[in-house]
Amino acid sequence: MWDITLHKFSLRQITFLRSLKARIFFILLLVGLIPCFIMRYAILQNYEQRAVNVRTSDITTQLRILANHLITYHYLQDTSSEVINAELEQLSNLYDGRVLIINSDLKIVKDTYGISEGKTIVSEEVIRCLRGESTNGYDRENGYMEMTIPITETVEADLPVGSGEPFELVRGVMLVSASNDSIIATMNSLNRQAVVVESIVGVLIFVVTLLVSKFLFQPFKKITQALDQAQEGYTTDPISVTECLETERIGDAFNRVLGRMKMLDDSRQEFVSNVSHELRTPITSMKVLADSLITQKDVPLEVYQEFMTDIAAEIEREDKIINDLLSLVKMDRTSADLNISQVDINALVELIMKRLRPIAMRRDIQLVYESLRPVTASVDEVKLTLALSNLVENAIKYNKEHGFVKVTLDADHQFFTVQVEDSGVGIPEDELEHIYERFYRVDKSRSREIGGTGLGLAITRSAILMHRGTIKVSSIEGEGTDFTVKIPLKYIAV
Ligand code: ADP
Repeated sequence: MWDITLHKFSLRQITFLRSLKARIFFILLLVGLIPCFIMRYAILQNYEQRAVNVRTSDITTQLRILANHLITYHYLQDTSSEVINAELEQLSNLYDGRVLIINSDLKIVKDTYGISEGKTIVSEEVIRCLRGESTNGYDRENGYMEMTIPITETVEADLPVGSGEPFELVRGVMLVSASNDSIIATMNSLNRQAVVVESIVGVLIFVVTLLVSKFLFQPFKKITQALDQAQEGYTTDPISVTECLETERIGDAFNRVLGRMKMLDDSRQEFVSNVSHELRTPITSMKVLADSLITQKDVPLEVYQEFMTDIAAEIEREDKIINDLLSLVKMDRTSADLNISQVDINALVELIMKRLRPIAMRRDIQLVYESLRPVTASVDEVKLTLALSNLVENAIKYNKEHGFVKVTLDADHQFFTVQVEDSGVGIPEDELEHIYERFYRVDKSRSREIGGTGLGLAITRSAILMHRGTIKVSSIEGEGTDFTVKIPLKYIAV
């Protein structure tokens, strides 16, 4: 159970993170808060450095004045001077620190805390200071600073009068450690103020995100509602949300998809109604023929035979329509269903011609085949045979008595072409663009008479397109028609 709850929780979290609102919130949060953090860090660092420097230079100045007094009052030899002790006390109170006076023998002569007087101190800073080098250090972690100042005396060189330059002699060292609590307190207070500012910025960003999402996402909400309505079928009107360019584009794209879907739906409905009509026609004829035989009494044998021949012809027609429909359904599938192999196209065309020659001979139509070169191509043999057979069969069917059909095969290094020319009835120019439509016939009664289903060219075109080929037609009414098929020699699967 826990698992399921956790799973649901993480799913919800992920969905939340995927929303644009969340992304805008996080982007604004980063853009708003990162500069605040950087500024806080920079200001605090800068303040600390400056405050420590000012304090160091303050203390150093005070110590230098005091060092002179120490020499004047011979404090290193005798620490009983009230004046100096008072000054030392004042100094250690002022800087909340400790002052050690160390003589040149590294002995502590005065400790304002009164703990280490008389003891010897050996530290690197003190020794360096005795050489005349003042040091200062800042212990950030413990919040105090430590510095050493040399106690120097100016003496004349022990040389004939007037020839010696005076020089500084280090007599001792003042070691001071001062607390930095006041600086740290100020920094803490600054830090608290910065946190308050950052929190206010965070809340402001949250409010801005809410406002932005309210106004910015309003058009998206509208378009989602419009899409939902369209999907539920409340409206078939085109969607239009023009509040912003993006939603307008989404609406346009959706309207295009909707238009295409409607077109596909219309063509599917038209196809279904065409199919039922085409399938019903032979059945109606058979029923009329059968009914008239049943209702008439003493029908002569010849009439029986004649009617039964007609019924057999209608059955054949029904069978042809069903077969053509099945072929078309096969062609409608994806190209993955192609059964590609290396096929001798010359042999394939010759076989088609051989099969159709008897039909041509019945109407004394001359079938001519011209092969300009041997051609082998990777094609689906069954589908290509069907496509080319339809073309040659049409050229025979829609021909005149004693006419001709000429099939020419040619190829270049990329494609092979099959041209089917006839001396037939031709196709009117304004009908040319429709001949590949399913169940379309130029002359319905003539096509029916010669056993056409109106599906042949639709099958042919689908088969050729599956091979990534093209089909072109040109025709002169009353003179003849010329179909040219162009197919790649090598099949390219996408
Ligand atoms: P059908 O089964 O009716 O022949 P098709 O799809 O094969 O159907 O052809 C569609 C229509 O195109 C035919 O009805 C016919 O009018 C026309 N047509 C096709 N081929 C030719 C041709 N070679 N000459 C004249 N008309 C043709």
